[in-house]
Amino acid sequence: MNDKKSKIEVSSTAEHNILPAAGEDIFLLNSNKNNIETGRTQLKEDRRAADRAAKQIKWEQRMRRKKSREEKARKEAEQKNAAIRAIHEKYMRAALAEAQKAAALREVPIGCVIVKEGRIIARGYNRRNTDANTLSHAELNAIREASHALGDWRLEGCTIYVTLEPCQMCAGAIVQSRIDEVVIGCMNPKAGCAGSVLNLMQVPAFNHQVKITRGILEKECSHLISSFFEQLRSEKSG
Ligand SMILES: [Zn+2]
Repeated sequence: MNDKKSKIEVSSTAEHNILPAAGEDIFLLNSNKNNIETGRTQLKEDRRAADRAAKQIKWEQRMRRKKSREEKARKEAEQKNAAIRAIHEKYMRAALAEAQKAAALREVPIGCVIVKEGRIIARGYNRRNTDANTLSHAELNAIREASHALGDWRLEGCTIYVTLEPCQMCAGAIVQSRIDEVVIGCMNPKAGCAGSVLNLMQVPAFNHQVKITRGILEKECSHLISSFFEQLRSEKSG
Protein backbone atom coordinates (compact mmCIF):
# COMPACT_ATOMS: atom_id res chain seq x y z
CA MET A 1 0.00 0.00 0.00
CA ASN A 2 2.80 2.37 0.88
CA ASP A 3 4.44 1.83 -2.47
CA LYS A 4 1.22 2.51 -4.39
CA LYS A 5 0.57 5.71 -2.48
CA SER A 6 4.08 6.84 -2.99
CA LYS A 7 3.76 6.24 -6.82
CA ILE A 8 0.63 8.31 -7.01
CA GLU A 9 2.29 11.17 -5.16
CA VAL A 10 5.28 11.05 -7.47
CA SER A 11 3.09 10.98 -10.53
CA SER A 12 1.01 13.90 -9.28
CA THR A 13 4.08 16.01 -8.56
CA ALA A 14 5.62 15.33 -12.00
CA GLU A 15 2.42 16.24 -13.84
CA HIS A 16 2.22 19.50 -11.95
CA ASN A 17 5.80 20.42 -12.90
CA ILE A 18 5.48 19.74 -16.71
CA LEU A 19 2.05 21.17 -17.68
CA PRO A 20 1.26 24.89 -17.24
CA ALA A 21 -1.90 25.98 -15.54
CA ALA A 22 -4.91 26.36 -17.90
CA GLY A 23 -5.09 30.21 -17.59
CA GLU A 24 -1.42 30.63 -18.44
CA ASP A 25 -1.87 28.52 -21.58
CA ILE A 26 -4.67 30.76 -22.98
CA PHE A 27 -2.66 33.86 -22.15
CA LEU A 28 0.29 32.58 -24.17
CA LEU A 29 -1.97 31.65 -27.08
CA ASN A 30 -3.60 35.10 -27.11
CA SER A 31 -0.26 36.77 -26.76
CA ASN A 32 1.10 34.86 -29.78
CA LYS A 33 -2.01 35.75 -31.80
CA ASN A 34 -1.58 39.41 -30.89
CA ASN A 35 2.06 39.30 -31.88
CA ILE A 36 1.19 37.77 -35.23
CA GLU A 37 -1.53 40.40 -35.86
CA THR A 38 0.81 43.21 -34.86
CA GLY A 39 3.46 41.75 -37.14
CA ARG A 40 1.02 41.54 -40.05
CA THR A 41 -0.18 45.11 -39.51
CA GLN A 42 3.41 46.32 -39.31
CA LEU A 43 4.23 44.42 -42.50
CA LYS A 44 1.30 46.02 -44.30
CA GLU A 45 2.32 49.45 -43.10
CA ASP A 46 5.90 48.83 -44.14
CA ARG A 47 4.75 47.73 -47.59
CA ARG A 48 2.52 50.79 -47.96
CA ALA A 49 5.39 53.04 -46.84
CA ALA A 50 7.70 51.33 -49.35
CA ASP A 51 5.09 51.80 -52.11
CA ARG A 52 4.73 55.47 -51.19
CA ALA A 53 8.51 55.94 -51.20
CA ALA A 54 8.82 54.17 -54.58
CA LYS A 55 6.02 56.35 -56.04
CA GLN A 56 7.69 59.47 -54.65
CA ILE A 57 11.01 58.50 -56.23
CA LYS A 58 9.31 57.78 -59.57
CA TRP A 59 7.42 61.11 -59.42
CA GLU A 60 10.64 62.98 -58.62
CA GLN A 61 12.42 61.24 -61.48
CA ARG A 62 9.53 62.13 -63.83
CA MET A 63 9.61 65.74 -62.66
CA ARG A 64 13.39 65.92 -63.15
CA ARG A 65 13.05 64.50 -66.69
CA LYS A 66 10.18 66.93 -67.45
CA LYS A 67 12.18 69.89 -66.11
CA SER A 68 15.22 68.83 -68.11
CA ARG A 69 13.10 68.50 -71.29
CA GLU A 70 11.54 71.94 -70.68
CA GLU A 71 14.97 73.47 -70.04
CA LYS A 72 16.31 71.92 -73.24
CA ALA A 73 13.30 73.17 -75.25
CA ARG A 74 13.68 76.65 -73.72
CA LYS A 75 17.40 76.78 -74.62
CA GLU A 76 16.66 75.56 -78.16
CA ALA A 77 13.91 78.19 -78.56
CA GLU A 78 16.28 80.89 -77.25
CA GLN A 79 18.99 79.80 -79.67
CA LYS A 80 16.49 79.72 -82.53
CA ASN A 81 15.16 83.20 -81.61
CA ALA A 82 18.71 84.56 -81.34
CA ALA A 83 19.52 83.09 -84.77
CA ILE A 84 16.35 84.59 -86.31
CA ARG A 85 17.09 87.94 -84.66
CA ALA A 86 20.66 87.90 -86.02
CA ILE A 87 19.26 87.31 -89.54
CA HIS A 88 16.70 90.11 -89.08
CA GLU A 89 19.42 92.49 -87.86
CA LYS A 90 21.62 91.65 -90.83
CA TYR A 91 18.91 92.62 -93.32
CA MET A 92 17.81 95.63 -91.27
CA ARG A 93 21.39 96.94 -91.55
CA ALA A 94 21.00 96.68 -95.31
CA ALA A 95 17.72 98.63 -95.03
CA LEU A 96 19.53 101.25 -92.89
CA ALA A 97 22.16 101.58 -95.62
CA GLU A 98 19.31 102.34 -98.05
CA ALA A 99 17.95 104.93 -95.61
CA GLN A 100 21.36 106.63 -95.61
CA LYS A 101 21.00 107.06 -99.39
CA ALA A 102 17.76 108.97 -98.75
CA ALA A 103 19.50 111.08 -96.09
CA ALA A 104 22.23 111.93 -98.61
CA LEU A 105 19.47 113.35 -100.85
CA ARG A 106 18.03 115.26 -97.84
CA GLU A 107 14.98 113.01 -97.95
CA VAL A 108 13.42 111.60 -94.78
CA PRO A 109 15.78 108.65 -94.21
CA ILE A 110 13.64 105.55 -94.72
CA GLY A 111 15.05 102.45 -96.38
CA CYS A 112 14.01 98.92 -97.10
CA VAL A 113 15.10 95.63 -98.63
CA ILE A 114 13.09 92.64 -99.82
CA VAL A 115 14.52 89.19 -99.09
CA LYS A 116 13.60 85.89 -100.66
CA GLU A 117 15.23 82.57 -99.73
CA GLY A 118 18.10 84.28 -97.91
CA ARG A 119 18.90 86.69 -100.75
CA ILE A 120 18.19 90.39 -101.12
CA ILE A 121 16.21 90.67 -104.35
CA ALA A 122 15.32 94.38 -104.13
CA ARG A 123 16.28 97.59 -102.33
CA GLY A 124 14.51 100.90 -101.99
CA TYR A 125 14.70 104.23 -100.21
CA ASN A 126 12.54 107.27 -99.90
CA ARG A 127 12.84 109.55 -102.97
CA ARG A 128 9.55 111.45 -102.68
CA ASN A 129 11.01 114.95 -103.06
CA THR A 130 13.70 113.94 -105.52
CA ASP A 131 11.16 112.25 -107.81
CA ALA A 132 8.40 114.75 -106.95
CA ASN A 133 6.16 111.74 -106.61
CA THR A 134 4.09 110.63 -103.65
CA LEU A 135 4.44 107.03 -104.85
CA SER A 136 8.20 107.09 -104.38
CA HIS A 137 8.25 105.69 -100.84
CA ALA A 138 11.02 103.23 -99.98
CA GLU A 139 8.67 100.22 -99.87
CA LEU A 140 6.98 100.94 -103.22
CA ASN A 141 10.35 101.45 -104.90
CA ALA A 142 11.54 98.10 -103.52
CA ILE A 143 8.29 96.29 -104.41
CA ARG A 144 8.58 97.55 -108.01
CA GLU A 145 12.18 96.30 -108.19
CA ALA A 146 11.30 92.93 -106.61
CA SER A 147 8.44 92.36 -109.08
CA HIS A 148 10.80 93.19 -111.91
CA ALA A 149 13.43 90.75 -110.53
CA LEU A 150 10.90 87.90 -110.13
CA GLY A 151 8.83 88.74 -113.21
CA ASP A 152 5.71 88.52 -111.05
CA TRP A 153 3.54 90.95 -109.08
CA ARG A 154 3.11 88.22 -106.46
CA LEU A 155 5.89 88.42 -103.89
CA GLU A 156 4.96 85.26 -102.01
CA GLY A 157 7.77 83.86 -99.86
CA CYS A 158 9.29 87.33 -99.48
CA THR A 159 10.08 89.34 -96.35
CA ILE A 160 10.29 93.13 -96.46
CA TYR A 161 12.61 94.90 -94.01
CA VAL A 162 11.79 98.55 -93.47
CA THR A 163 13.41 101.01 -91.08
CA LEU A 164 10.10 102.79 -90.27
CA GLU A 165 6.60 101.38 -89.86
CA PRO A 166 4.87 101.55 -93.27
CA CYS A 167 2.22 104.17 -94.08
CA GLN A 168 -1.28 103.22 -95.28
CA MET A 169 -0.23 103.29 -98.95
CA CYS A 170 2.80 101.03 -98.45
CA ALA A 171 0.95 98.73 -96.02
CA GLY A 172 -1.74 98.34 -98.71
CA ALA A 173 0.90 97.55 -101.34
CA ILE A 174 2.58 95.00 -99.04
CA VAL A 175 -0.76 93.21 -98.55
CA GLN A 176 -1.59 93.47 -102.28
CA SER A 177 1.79 92.00 -103.28
CA ARG A 178 1.25 89.09 -100.86
CA ILE A 179 4.53 89.56 -99.06
CA ASP A 180 4.72 87.03 -96.19
CA GLU A 181 6.32 89.12 -93.49
CA VAL A 182 7.22 92.70 -92.67
CA VAL A 183 10.10 93.36 -90.30
CA ILE A 184 10.04 96.87 -88.84
CA GLY A 185 12.82 98.92 -87.27
CA CYS A 186 10.93 101.62 -85.40
CA MET A 187 7.26 102.45 -85.16
CA ASN A 188 5.57 105.57 -86.50
CA PRO A 189 2.87 106.53 -83.98
CA LYS A 190 1.52 109.37 -86.16
CA ALA A 191 1.19 107.57 -89.49
CA GLY A 192 2.11 103.87 -89.16
CA CYS A 193 -0.31 101.25 -90.45
CA ALA A 194 1.21 98.11 -88.98
CA GLY A 195 -0.39 98.63 -85.60
CA SER A 196 0.10 102.30 -84.66
CA VAL A 197 -2.76 104.22 -86.33
CA LEU A 198 -4.21 101.14 -87.99
CA ASN A 199 -3.14 97.58 -88.63
CA LEU A 200 -3.81 97.12 -92.34
CA MET A 201 -1.43 94.15 -92.41
CA GLN A 202 -3.73 91.88 -90.48
CA VAL A 203 -7.32 92.70 -91.37
CA PRO A 204 -9.12 89.34 -91.14
CA ALA A 205 -11.61 90.30 -93.90
CA PHE A 206 -8.80 90.70 -96.48
CA ASN A 207 -7.62 87.64 -98.35
CA HIS A 208 -4.01 88.07 -97.19
CA GLN A 209 -2.46 88.85 -93.83
CA VAL A 210 1.17 89.76 -93.24
CA LYS A 211 3.22 88.56 -90.31
CA ILE A 212 4.70 91.52 -88.40
CA THR A 213 7.98 91.60 -86.48
CA ARG A 214 8.72 94.87 -84.72
CA GLY A 215 11.69 96.47 -82.97
CA ILE A 216 14.64 95.18 -84.99
CA LEU A 217 17.56 97.66 -84.56
CA GLU A 218 14.90 100.00 -83.23
CA LYS A 219 17.33 102.48 -81.63
CA GLU A 220 19.44 102.82 -84.78
CA CYS A 221 16.39 103.27 -87.02
CA SER A 222 14.77 105.76 -84.66
CA HIS A 223 17.99 107.71 -84.12
CA LEU A 224 18.54 108.06 -87.87
CA ILE A 225 15.17 109.74 -88.37
CA SER A 226 15.22 111.88 -85.22
CA SER A 227 18.75 113.15 -85.95
CA PHE A 228 17.65 113.99 -89.51
CA PHE A 229 14.81 116.16 -88.23
CA GLU A 230 17.05 117.69 -85.54
CA GLN A 231 19.49 118.70 -88.24
CA LEU A 232 16.68 120.24 -90.33
CA ARG A 233 15.49 122.22 -87.30
CA SER A 234 18.97 123.44 -86.46
CA GLU A 235 19.51 124.51 -90.10
CA LYS A 236 16.23 126.45 -90.08
CA SER A 237 16.95 128.11 -86.74
CA GLY A 238 20.57 128.84 -87.80
ZN1 LIG B 1 4.76 104.56 -97.42
